[in-house]
Amino acid sequence: MQLTIARALQGARCQIDDIEARLLLQYVLNINTVFLTAYSDFVLNHEQADSFQLLVARRIAGEPIAYLIGEREFYDLTFKVTPAVLIPRPETELLVELALSRIPVNQACNILDLGTGSGAIALTIAKHRPLAHVTAVDLSPDALAVARLNAEKLKVDNVRMLAGSWFDGLDQEKFDLIVSNPPYVADGDPHLEQGDLRFEPRLALTAVGDGLACIRQIIANAPQFLVSGGELLLEHGYDQAAICQQLLAESNFINIFSHLDLAGILRVSGGQHYDRPLATS
Ligand code: GLN
Repeated sequence: MQLTIARALQGARCQIDDIEARLLLQYVLNINTVFLTAYSDFVLNHEQADSFQLLVARRIAGEPIAYLIGEREFYDLTFKVTPAVLIPRPETELLVELALSRIPVNQACNILDLGTGSGAIALTIAKHRPLAHVTAVDLSPDALAVARLNAEKLKVDNVRMLAGSWFDGLDQEKFDLIVSNPPYVADGDPHLEQGDLRFEPRLALTAVGDGLACIRQIIANAPQFLVSGGELLLEHGYDQAAICQQLLAESNFINIFSHLDLAGILRVSGGQHYDRPLATS
């Protein structure tokens, strides 16, 4: 029996989500939604039918759709993703929005993104603020390779990629804004055994113990890499806003705040850091 687009979708629909089936089929046939809808009687060849069945089976086994098709939309851009990087999430768009609201359109400034992964945050900021100089740091060479590929694909040339652990690769540099979506899920959190998280790099998800190890390290070290009046913005877990605010206060940040994401969860916290005014006699 010939497998048409309509039949393929019908078969898959009993096993996986309809939207996901469509995404997989578009990927296999290298076509867009319009073609998929308009040519529902298009007949798949054997190779295409086999590839589609295989992808449906992998999806049923739990593999994230973004890894299967190799991309994910974030903000207004599409990013290549592999299992070496965290899949960009909608809640992280809040971090980007807050960052963009602070970066002037017509003026150069220095931005740092710690733990860039696919480069979703750094590249979206850079694309929207062409005058900004963005530095994107990641510990994982495989992640940086994905970020570089995304920079090339999105034609972004105002991002410098650096391998290293948090601030280690930076010299005496100062930034106007530091952003990060660090690993913040606690070791042993049951969510790690559910959904997409099972397939994502642990390095990008979990920080030892209570999940705050990386956040602590970033907050403690950020002041020496910020210009006076510069700001730090951090994404964190659903129950970590209060502790983040406390850590920011302990590191002498002021104007400390937390911001709700679209799900109503306090998801991004931040503050400004000023150099102590010189004592006058
Ligand atoms: N928000 C992610 C999740 O729990 C975790 C991302 C991160 O650790 N930075 O699904």
